[in-house]
Amino acid sequence: MSDLPLRLASLVLLLSLSACAAPPRHHAPPPPSAAPAPSTLLLVSIDGLRADALGRGDTPHLDRLAAGGVRAQWMRPSYPVLTFPNHYTLVTGLRPDHHGIVHNSMNDAALGRFVVADSDAGRVPGWWQGVPLWTSAERAGIATGVWAWPGVTAPRDGVMPRDWHRFDAGVPLEARVERIAGWLGTSGRPPPGLLAVYLENVDGAGHDHGPDAPETRAAIRAADAMVGALLARLEAAGLAERTNVLVVSDHGMAEVPEGHYLAVEDMASMEEAEVVSIGQVVGLVPRSGHEAQVTARLVGRHAHYQCWNKAAIPARLQYGSHPRVPPIVCQMDEGWNALPRATVDRRNASGTHDRGAHGYDPDSPAMRAVFIADGPAFGDGVVLPPFDNVDVYPLLARLLGIAPQPNDGDPRTLLPALRQP
Ligand code: AMP
Ligand code: ZN
Ligand code: ZN
Repeated sequence: MSDLPLRLASLVLLLSLSACAAPPRHHAPPPPSAAPAPSTLLLVSIDGLRADALGRGDTPHLDRLAAGGVRAQWMRPSYPVLTFPNHYTLVTGLRPDHHGIVHNSMNDAALGRFVVADSDAGRVPGWWQGVPLWTSAERAGIATGVWAWPGVTAPRDGVMPRDWHRFDAGVPLEARVERIAGWLGTSGRPPPGLLAVYLENVDGAGHDHGPDAPETRAAIRAADAMVGALLARLEAAGLAERTNVLVVSDHGMAEVPEGHYLAVEDMASMEEAEVVSIGQVVGLVPRSGHEAQVTARLVGRHAHYQCWNKAAIPARLQYGSHPRVPPIVCQMDEGWNALPRATVDRRNASGTHDRGAHGYDPDSPAMRAVFIADGPAFGDGVVLPPFDNVDVYPLLARLLGIAPQPNDGDPRTLLPALRQP
């Protein structure tokens, strides 16, 4: 499927043509094999890895990448601070309000209902607006391999990554490394120009046990080891020297204190409003005839949350213009969650509450995400001031040598990371 051999051939042709046009030399022009090999970009996302998880002894591989390359003090997630919206932002440079994945749970007038766990909905291209990086890369003849990145199962105009795998938490991390290593082009295929890998284990442990729990730290060590194993496989395939590595996360994780749960039915009765999303960013659609009363009761400040009409969401959150954003959005205070009463009761009875959550204010220190980069394109020992995660996409496009799609990122933000800005 890939046009990479074609691109290489034209590069070689171009080089030999320019060698013909050049003035006579004493030395023979370098043989075609000396032309710079196309590089590989490895992008790994560790879901829920908070910026301050680095440098605590749990992340030797990430720390080594950061020390020899670039790290951000932290990266600011987009609103809402949830997994699917932010992962799709990272590969499109678009705010969730612009790429259409406005929440992990959402409704669309034409498409119906989307929830993360519904793999059928995930395959419907119409949910995923904008063009993800792997599609642009494939269109440019760059082979891609994508492991479980949100959006990968939705073909765009029929285009899929050359190699891809759906989300499957049941595949052990070691087995994932084997599968991804199989994409590296050892069997006569060109190596991928882009490898994007999504890892969920840190997020899961963070929710279950809290961001600083021993179980979460063990998950962080396992994710770090997986990055180390991927780097070792790139090395073994002879690709390490020309691979640029980025390790990012979508958001951090906040502590959820005992009892910090509200029943969503106490925010609005089900007769008055339809609840589109629960958790930390609660979306409500007042039912016909109840608009004024629901709006009057909800909009404003409450003990543990704040609600806005979608048109009046604070500008800094850059959210509320997409038709999928429900008319009323309630933001829970950090550490608080709104759940169906039955869930609150069941968890109270069994004592099995989540101890960690995200989905809070993107400017909260607990929500800070990770950004690390290393490889031939990057400077040594650079520490970048905080930036927005929409700024990653223009960098990725540049590293792949493709034209970025229209996006919300600032291509200048990450120039100081580069060896040659
Ligand atoms: P959340 O914490 O609600 O933002 O969602 C993140 C969680 O969703 C991860 O910890 C995974 O367990 C799960 N997840 C991630 N990707 C998928 C997917 N494609 N399909 C189903 N579940 C997923
Ligand atoms: Zn996440
Ligand atoms: Zn999560």
